[in-house]
Amino acid sequence: MARRTVLRATAILSLAVFLSSCAQEAPPETTVAPLEVVKPRPEIYAEYGLRADLSYLTDNQRRMIAILIEASDIMDGLFWRQAYGDDWQDWLASIDDDAARRFAALNYGPWDRLDDNKPFIEGIGPKPLGANFYPADMTKEEFDAAYLPGKNGLYSLVRRNDDGSLKLVPYSVAYADELKQAAELLREAAELAESQDFANYLKLRAAALISDDYQMSDLYWMDVKDNEIDVVIGPIETYEDRLFGYRAAFESYVLIKDLDWSARLARFALLLPELQEGLPVPEAYKAESPGSDSDLNAYDVVYYAGDCNAASKTIAINLPNDEEVQLQKGTRRLQLKNAMQAKFEEILQPIAGELLDESQRQHVTFDAFFANTMFHEVAHGLGIKNTINGKGTVRQALLDIASSMEEGKADILGLYMITRLHEAGELGDVDLRDYYVTFMTSVFRSIRFGGQQRARQGEHGALQLFRGPGRIRSRRRNRHLPGRLRQDAQCYDVSVPAAADTAGRRRLRRRPGVDEYPRRYRRAAASGS
Ligand SMILES: [Zn+2]
Repeated sequence: MARRTVLRATAILSLAVFLSSCAQEAPPETTVAPLEVVKPRPEIYAEYGLRADLSYLTDNQRRMIAILIEASDIMDGLFWRQAYGDDWQDWLASIDDDAARRFAALNYGPWDRLDDNKPFIEGIGPKPLGANFYPADMTKEEFDAAYLPGKNGLYSLVRRNDDGSLKLVPYSVAYADELKQAAELLREAAELAESQDFANYLKLRAAALISDDYQMSDLYWMDVKDNEIDVVIGPIETYEDRLFGYRAAFESYVLIKDLDWSARLARFALLLPELQEGLPVPEAYKAESPGSDSDLNAYDVVYYAGDCNAASKTIAINLPNDEEVQLQKGTRRLQLKNAMQAKFEEILQPIAGELLDESQRQHVTFDAFFANTMFHEVAHGLGIKNTINGKGTVRQALLDIASSMEEGKADILGLYMITRLHEAGELGDVDLRDYYVTFMTSVFRSIRFGGQQRARQGEHGALQLFRGPGRIRSRRRNRHLPGRLRQDAQCYDVSVPAAADTAGRRRLRRRPGVDEYPRRYRRAAASGS
């Protein structure tokens, strides 16, 4: 089902009026560089219809999906109010330029989220760091000095009293009508649910929306296993609050479980101890037994709304964020298969066309792309969490490079698992080269995001595996083609714990970072975006 953005046609406040009233004010004295206004560029987003197999769903389940989408649309409107302002509908309808209006809808406001939130409409100031969670004129110092019990909470707005002092307004009060309506819809959906656990979760989530207390529903969600439909709904991530990172933004995903992949993953999880045993490293590095209780499942997305629908789309979810729930129950990881299919078709295949020799392009397949992603996730469970030289956990020892090393480890051990499972005949009649060629192509997809993301540095490290004699040859100069690949994990960082001291970290960090990687590769990869 494709997501459609509904634009209301009620223009009351025209942009021209807004601009002229601003122009009458004296220009403020400023010492900072003038704000750069960029061009709206809706063309950077590909249109893609998300498909999902609804054929095995019952009539009740289908009706439930429609109701959950209705509730999601309420989250969409609430996110607009948090990201931009309460008058978003009138403002959006008032934009005359089609490209700018379309781009504003994609960005939930007049700031380009994929270009440092630069404004793309003349006369618009910089995006407030606190979005619309805080008064626009509030400074960090004022907030820090204010006596407001619970002011660091996730589920309240900061507003001003008549006397100008700050106050907290809980979401359940600020958005009372909308949240009551959404809660009502969730209860309606619960009536149609075939899984009793899922029905209970929906009722708890409905109660959470009107009480601002989400913990009980988060805890319960961890135990819901037998539902074919799922919904992630409410105020969840805090990235939209760039001022403090305290306040959660509304969003919703409506999801359908991929039963086939879920069954395969359950089987592979059972093989983890055996795979750990077989790792090509000294015994000391596999002393721990891998966690096989990871809750990992594949889903198709039916609907995105709010925060997760702003700018580029999420393809994997790891929730809940509540640390107390995580300690008690862990997290659930949801991989969004049809969204990955979109990225595969719109990004990965063009990159393959650009970089790979024609004879190798047949090996870039969606099945391999998806399998690599899933095995990467499972592979986080392989290896060891504690150093073997008594220096605490690997994470503590590696500090700032821990995440990138962990991501690189998961990449390579994912390929290692695939190779071993393939040898054991567990993957059926597929060409092993599909996984390797697809993996390498997807590294180029990630590299184009640049070095800010820690996870990418791990992928870059993985890419180096494929360099060297006999491994990668390119189209023109025999360099990009995975020829004979190293198919064991030894050459990468399963042995990282040994290097887990200051000198070791320095040694690891000396490897070239993503940004140091030859520009021409990144340029070629970027053309696929
Ligand atoms: Zn990972």
